[in-house]
Amino acid sequence: MYADIPFHQDIVRHFIFDNTAIRGEWTLLQQSYQDVLKRHNYPSAIQNILGEFIAAACLLSTTIKFDGTLSIQAKSEGDVSLVIAECTSQQKIRAIAHVANPTPSNRFQDILKDGHMAITITPATGERYQGIVPLEGDSLAACLELYFYQSEQLNTKLWLSANGDRAAGMLLQALPKETATFAAEEDENWNRIIELAKTLSTHEMLNLDHETVLHRLFHEEQVRLFEAKDVNFHCQCSVERTAQALRSLGIDDANKILAKKGFITIDCQFCGHRYRFNKNQVDDIFAPKGPIHH
Ligand SMILES: [Zn+2]
Repeated sequence: MYADIPFHQDIVRHFIFDNTAIRGEWTLLQQSYQDVLKRHNYPSAIQNILGEFIAAACLLSTTIKFDGTLSIQAKSEGDVSLVIAECTSQQKIRAIAHVANPTPSNRFQDILKDGHMAITITPATGERYQGIVPLEGDSLAACLELYFYQSEQLNTKLWLSANGDRAAGMLLQALPKETATFAAEEDENWNRIIELAKTLSTHEMLNLDHETVLHRLFHEEQVRLFEAKDVNFHCQCSVERTAQALRSLGIDDANKILAKKGFITIDCQFCGHRYRFNKNQVDDIFAPKGPIHH
């Protein structure tokens, strides 16, 4: 069991530094993180890495300005073959890891050896956007910093931490420079604020409320906090999405299972919900114009 901490958690909170073009995000997760972990029996190193992915997805989701989902997905040849962490624009999270080695290393480079990471933003309607980078850094934070620099030319710093009980993260990002006149001043602001932020420790992130931490780090700066947003575990699986997965299995394999068992079950990997399809339903799914549309 984990100890309760007597302040508001399962939040993500946006802040800015007045008179600069620097923005920040803070997240601290406990219950929502536990809701992800309790459905699986992950080794502790994998619980930690998954916590970092979830915290990162929460921090990054705040930039979505529409109804949609941000997903961070990593594939590797290391101790986990797949990690997916998703956060919607309403801060609903879900996540999963496929463990390839039951006694994994604690090193990021071993866990996600020869890996790639895709960051995908899927709007409720319209085109989805995806960026892919190799996992060349020695931490998830370093890989995400590289991603922002390469794909968006944005200076970004991230701090991520998780211990199986809680997951926390902070992001600082310099917004695009509007004119060359202010560029030198903005570089100065960025360097000064990053220097202050460097003292942030894992212990502070996981055990203190963010107002205390931000005050400790930045009391010489003018920090403006925006309203905290609650983060919850919530799976977006549905009959329609599961039917799509069944379609990708193919009609021949589906009929083989039906012939043997009389029905097909598909369990959601994220929440464990079991979807069951009988013969009529499977026929509808594979019919040219079935009642289930996608
Ligand atoms: Zn589900």
